Amino acid sequence: MEVVNLQITKQTSYSFDKFIELRNELNDFDNPFLKQIIQKYAEDEWETLEARLNHFSQKLSTKWRKWTDDIARPENHPKLLHYDAFNHRIDRIVQPLEARMLTEEVKRERLFSSALLPYEGITKRYLLHGNGESGITCPLACTDGLIALIEEFIDEVPNEVRKMYLHAKEGIDGDFAIGAQFMSEIQGGSNIPANVLRAVPEKNYYRLYGNKFFCSAVHADYSVVTARLEGTNDIALFVVPTWLPGDKEKEKRNGHVVNRLKWKIGTTELPSGEIDYNGAVAYLIGPKNRGVALAVSIVLTRSRLDIGFASASFIMRAAREAKLYARFRQVFDRKIDEFPMAAAQLEDLEEAAKRMVATAFKIYDAFLKYDPLVETAESFATRELILLQKIFSSKEAVNQLRTAISIFGGHGAIEDFSSIPRLFRDSIVNELWEGPSNVLLAQIYRDLHKLRSKFSIKTFLNIILPHLSQAAIDKYAGEIEQIMVIDLTAMPTWENCLAARKWEQVWREIFIHYQQLAVSELQDLPILDPAVLVQTSK
Ligand SMILES: Cc1cc2nc3c(=O)[nH]c(=O)nc-3n(C[C@H](O)[C@H](O)[C@H](O)COP(=O)(O)OP(=O)(O)OC[C@H]3O[C@@H](n4cnc5c(N)ncnc54)[C@H](O)[C@@H]3O)c2cc1C
Repeated sequence: MEVVNLQITKQTSYSFDKFIELRNELNDFDNPFLKQIIQKYAEDEWETLEARLNHFSQKLSTKWRKWTDDIARPENHPKLLHYDAFNHRIDRIVQPLEARMLTEEVKRERLFSSALLPYEGITKRYLLHGNGESGITCPLACTDGLIALIEEFIDEVPNEVRKMYLHAKEGIDGDFAIGAQFMSEIQGGSNIPANVLRAVPEKNYYRLYGNKFFCSAVHADYSVVTARLEGTNDIALFVVPTWLPGDKEKEKRNGHVVNRLKWKIGTTELPSGEIDYNGAVAYLIGPKNRGVALAVSIVLTRSRLDIGFASASFIMRAAREAKLYARFRQVFDRKIDEFPMAAAQLEDLEEAAKRMVATAFKIYDAFLKYDPLVETAESFATRELILLQKIFSSKEAVNQLRTAISIFGGHGAIEDFSSIPRLFRDSIVNELWEGPSNVLLAQIYRDLHKLRSKFSIKTFLNIILPHLSQAAIDKYAGEIEQIMVIDLTAMPTWENCLAARKWEQVWREIFIHYQQLAVSELQDLPILDPAVLVQTSK
């Protein structure tokens, strides 16, 4: 009888191993362009900071990156367990072991502690963004806002809130708290003044009743919540513990239930819930009638800055990996980066990465110098730059990541081939949360109308674009003034729709000028060690 040989021979010996090996060895801090930026702002502290960042980035680019890729798999997405076996409502957020280990290791970095060097916390958070783990980075941004908010009123808040502050900033017995911020309600997230969640006074605290419809980091220890004071038109700001003292271990939530976790296009590792409050203890913070102003100026400002860093870090990582792949992969008769069309796209990607990273740090520096709560021309300019960055960097991130994906061809669409598809999906969320573009463009329109009673538009433009000629400043000021004559808040007409398009266009141009200024202050250093590229092509 004839024996049929069933052994299947491999059709191809093609291997990605060389690329994977080199890519996995990339250390995100091993980036001459990035290092010079951090050195510029760290000044005398640079040497100590560099050593600390080397150590941090080594973990981040190896162990933590591997965990992050595992956490991102669909079967590991967070889940909600409503009840325990004894009929207790617990609303436990179930996360994979890697997510819990990563959270604990990152918490131990004490990223908000006063023991850190200036720029250490923010630079580490910039680097963390490159991994694309919103289950870590979103609560960190919220913790930043929570700490800043309590700090502003530290002399007035009750001891319970001071303890929360200490817990988030310095840790208590080695345990570090994380924050969240719940402002959006079902009837309109952009319109915080329309909140209907009720706050009813009781002793030295309030009790909350109602619903919050977008609650990211629903596993956090404390949240900043906006609510309407019962019987008034005032929207106030509260700090709400997720568990009252002693209840975390019992999994007994503070007067609220989590109805469900949202199924999202991006930031899928981050549990975003819908909450019903039924008497949660909440501590008022700041004046009763200033909740919206405080939420925007202290809390959302920090989250928006964070989105600038996230967008920049995403594009920097994608640009480096796309460059490496294009040097490695042979198609037809040559490497991908030897086709003029791909070479031009890679150049644009690298240029965008440099612009976005340089800008994120420059705006952050201005934020540290010019207190956004003070009414000077520089503070005003910084506030508007933070809005412009949130609008245009998050949008550009989506576009640039699409280009990066295309450099990888079909493999660019494969979630476990690279992290770029995840960064792309997360960037779409970055465009939406903390204020979608139209809301922020409308905010700039309102701000500039108010500004004109104090400073001229030319003064503002001269502050942000000192490198442009007076003719260019006059041109932009003229265009802005012309649009501002038209009511962009009225019902749509042919005329105001046209003006609305021009409004976005003129600010995009102005913001690119600002980004170019940020880059021009630096040397044109590479984003990847050139030796790595040589090795890749061998
Ligand atoms: C994944 C994810 C997680 C989130 N997590 C949180 C969270 O933890 N906490 C939280 O508070 N929120 C959270 N949000 C909510 C987010 O902040 C809101 O979705 C956002 O503020 C917009 O609100 P909305 O969805 O109700 O849109 P709407 O307010 O209904 O807006 C819809 C559209 O109308 C436009 N628009 C609205 N008002 C104006 C205006 N005045 N001028 C011009 N255009 C306007 C908007 O630009 C947008 O295009 C999250 C959102 C997402 C996607």
